[in-house]
Amino acid sequence: MKHSESISKPLIIFIVSALLFSCQPDTVTETDEDVVSLVSPPLPTKLTNGSDARPNIVFIFSDDHSYEAVSAYGGRLSKVAPTPNLDRIASEGIRFDNCFVTNALCGPSRAVIQTGKHSHLNGFMENEHRFDGSQQTFPKLLQKGGYETAVIGKWHLGTDPQGFDFWNVLPGQGTYYAPDFRTPNGLASGTPGEYVTEAVVTKSIEWLEQERNKDKPFMLMLQHKAPHRFWLPPVHLLEEYVAKKYPEPKNLFDDYKGRGTPAQTQDMTLRVTMDLALDNKMVPFRQDRMNEAQKEKWNEVYDQIREDVLSKRPQGDDLVRWKYQRYMADYLACIKSLDESVGTMLEYLEESGLDENTVVIYASDQGFFLGEHGWFDKRFMYEESLKTPLLVRWPGVAKAGTVIKQMVSNLDFAQTFLDLAGIEQPSDMQGKSLKPLFEGKEPPDWRESVYYHYYCFPEYHAVRRHDGVRNSRYKLMHFYDLNEWELFDLEKDPMEMKSVHDDPEYAEALSHMKGELAKLREEYQVPPAPKLRKGETLFPPWREFGTFEIGLQDKGWIYLFDGKSLKGWRQPFATNPGEPLSQIAESTGIKVVDGEIHLSLSPQVFYLHTLEFSDFILELEAFTPSKNFDSGIGFRCVLPKGKQLPVGYQSEISDIRSGGIYDIGVGWMNPTDEEAKINDFVDRTGTFYKASAWNQIRVMCKGDRIKTWVNGQLCSDVKDSKHQVGTIGLQHHSKEGVYRFRNIRIQEI
Ligand code: CA
Repeated sequence: MKHSESISKPLIIFIVSALLFSCQPDTVTETDEDVVSLVSPPLPTKLTNGSDARPNIVFIFSDDHSYEAVSAYGGRLSKVAPTPNLDRIASEGIRFDNCFVTNALCGPSRAVIQTGKHSHLNGFMENEHRFDGSQQTFPKLLQKGGYETAVIGKWHLGTDPQGFDFWNVLPGQGTYYAPDFRTPNGLASGTPGEYVTEAVVTKSIEWLEQERNKDKPFMLMLQHKAPHRFWLPPVHLLEEYVAKKYPEPKNLFDDYKGRGTPAQTQDMTLRVTMDLALDNKMVPFRQDRMNEAQKEKWNEVYDQIREDVLSKRPQGDDLVRWKYQRYMADYLACIKSLDESVGTMLEYLEESGLDENTVVIYASDQGFFLGEHGWFDKRFMYEESLKTPLLVRWPGVAKAGTVIKQMVSNLDFAQTFLDLAGIEQPSDMQGKSLKPLFEGKEPPDWRESVYYHYYCFPEYHAVRRHDGVRNSRYKLMHFYDLNEWELFDLEKDPMEMKSVHDDPEYAEALSHMKGELAKLREEYQVPPAPKLRKGETLFPPWREFGTFEIGLQDKGWIYLFDGKSLKGWRQPFATNPGEPLSQIAESTGIKVVDGEIHLSLSPQVFYLHTLEFSDFILELEAFTPSKNFDSGIGFRCVLPKGKQLPVGYQSEISDIRSGGIYDIGVGWMNPTDEEAKINDFVDRTGTFYKASAWNQIRVMCKGDRIKTWVNGQLCSDVKDSKHQVGTIGLQHHSKEGVYRFRNIRIQEI
């Protein structure tokens, strides 16, 4: 067909992701006693029977776990959602009350832990970056020093793990149900019925029991996906957690008046940003990875909530309160499951006798807002996001029930692990070993403040770039792109409701903290911030999406396919120029089969619906073969008058490489020019779309902005002024296979 050229190029797309990324020491002997003895007594490296007596390390690491949701910290949720197994680590060991992260974001926190260096030195400043695994990391040093190393669970650093004898990691963010795992031998498909938190622990125990070299001490990084957004609990906990009533934070209805532009212009409120459909699960999505029993249980619980809320339709503050309760039920049920899995691991360690010589460390990659300031998510240097839980159990060494107030950081973990193993800490690492604190010592000259730096703007949630310093009394934050400062007196204002940076009474404190910030920037070799990316940011909040006004209406959907005929769909290619586009008849290339539209007959099939739309929500289900290129649903396909083809501009959800991933495309991308970009995207989001299975796709278009979800995961949030009013199209562009679509419906907004 003569139009094949003009269609084939445009179907390759450019992606903006929604979610959403040397040196070796000369020699490292098992122990350098001179170095180790500076901080602790030399450790025996060999017992008389020949085995290595250095302690094992089990590092249990979660994602977005607020200290408020660990009952050992005694916060407002501790009674309603206790975590007895985590509390046991604290009561049998140590609770750190002041552990802070250097950059409150998933990937960057992990890179800091790998390297013991701040983001600007390890190169991983944003989730979209890819970790340079060739650099010095603590697992490599442990391995060289005689440790057996493993990482199991969420990795989120893009590139393959290095320095590990064993690794099984979740692709990208991973999935809660039937999670796939990346392994050195390729992708291992998820097992139906499995839940991610349990799967990670099961794999960890299998490794401990069967895989590892038992002659060596080991380091296990057991890294959970939970409780990351969208907080999908295991079904056995749904009813219990839905039935509870969760105490609200005092500042749930914060008006942001005591703070500057950043707090007032973020996009992370329960009120506006929290999506009723996806965050609060008020559409029946995200079930394709559940087995039948799980689906049944899930629907039993959520259908009832949905029915109830759609009949009441709370508004304003009532809606915020309702969302908060829903959010806490899901988040805390994920935490409960996490806590159960910690119990499983502690029991295993006990039963196997490993517990006596194993240091168990629990931490999260950063904190999370649980309604404080009216927010969810993290990123800001405010306490809930900056602070992470840190619990340590080391039988025979760490005194039971210890509480440590010293300021520690995820920057310290790498050196702590090395120190525990009696391995020299490289001088270019920037933290401090916590081992002396574990041992109950009071190291002199402990740090008085910590440095923080968040780099992502424009970015999701619209948090401005900032760095800052926190000591035991004050916190200073500098939003340098706006040249705005915030200073908090944490003693008088622990909830950080009013910045005192311009209060004359705090002039001295301000000056001191500015000096401290300058000192830390110099000490950590912080370069000037990278140039601010172009763009206004702000995917400005879409207020309507947080309410019942749109999206959840049970009425207002227009079905673009009645399940029986191709009524309303047209062939875009007129036989002669100027001819009107015609209603299509069923042909071998497009057929209705069992309530589905089947597209085949390659190449180039492109059908458009006669209705035109400007701002809308589109939902549909798609089933595509695994090895085809470049097909899918196009929408807002602009068909200028007099033209026969959708030219000029088109965005689409499309298979961009080889059946692996669907996402929205904006603009055209040539795969040969942009291969690295496409590969990077596929690596990070490859779990969302499943080939040879039904996938649920939801698109919201408004103005120049489009958000896309695939199987309930937000995949992209893009702006492009070229978007116009257009029609919905279906296309098939591959050499073989049948592309199936069903339940195509649209709602104008
Ligand atoms: Ca995280």
